[in-house]
Amino acid sequence: MGNIKTVKVNDCEIGGDRFIFMAGPCSVESEEQIMKIATLLDELKIHILRGGAFKPRTSPVAFQGLGLEGLKLLRKAADKYKLLVVTEVMDTKDISLISEYADILQVGTRNMFNYSLLKELGKARKAVLLKRSFMATIEEYVMASEYILQGGNEDLIYCERGIRTFMKETRFTLDISAIPLIKQMTNRPVIIDPSHATGIRSLILPMTKAGLVTGASGAMIEVHPDPDKALSDGAQSLNLNQFRAVIEEVRKLENQIKASD
Ligand code: PEP
Ligand code: MN
Repeated sequence: MGNIKTVKVNDCEIGGDRFIFMAGPCSVESEEQIMKIATLLDELKIHILRGGAFKPRTSPVAFQGLGLEGLKLLRKAADKYKLLVVTEVMDTKDISLISEYADILQVGTRNMFNYSLLKELGKARKAVLLKRSFMATIEEYVMASEYILQGGNEDLIYCERGIRTFMKETRFTLDISAIPLIKQMTNRPVIIDPSHATGIRSLILPMTKAGLVTGASGAMIEVHPDPDKALSDGAQSLNLNQFRAVIEEVRKLENQIKASD
């Protein structure tokens, strides 16, 4: 496989030698919550903190995120431990505000087809994490990404986060073949999101291992200090100890693969 175009954000390289993690709560809920998670990321030498501040919820009466307050809490927690922040931007009007607080701008599954947003992100001076729409073919996904690239923004990371199939036992279906295929087609890093793909916390470890062996450059994982009380996506969130165990297992496998290369 040719050299992939890695994305460097400060000192963190996505698509390089190491499998990276982006981790944090589905939604930022409080300072205590985000600080506990940031402390754990620091301990585990994970450099990218995720968290939703502007949330795309299926129901308009569900928790919509803390907005600006959430961005400030993310930045505060990240700065304490020199972490990077990735968070979702849902609307062109929010790009400049979110860019003040985030290092990587995330486009969620529902907005992959929002070409006005993609065009604006092509002009942004921030790395973009473009999630695959749950109803996009790979061709549509790659074409969507071209809007960002053609705007002049080359700092692009793909994310396979599950597609809708007839399966009802999992939230979506993680399309494993998309990982090597998108990598071959684009020569850019692809990460996976096993949390949203499965909706089931016990599947995070096996799916992350699958991503690692099929060429993903990292995983985005939801973690919460008390998943049963989470304001969104509790069922797929790992608690702090479960998360630590997942990271240790994945790194063990990564080291075994490297040692046998
Ligand atoms: C998220 O990562 O916060 C999220 C909402 O994911 P997705 O857009 O993949 O559903
Ligand atoms: Mn979520």
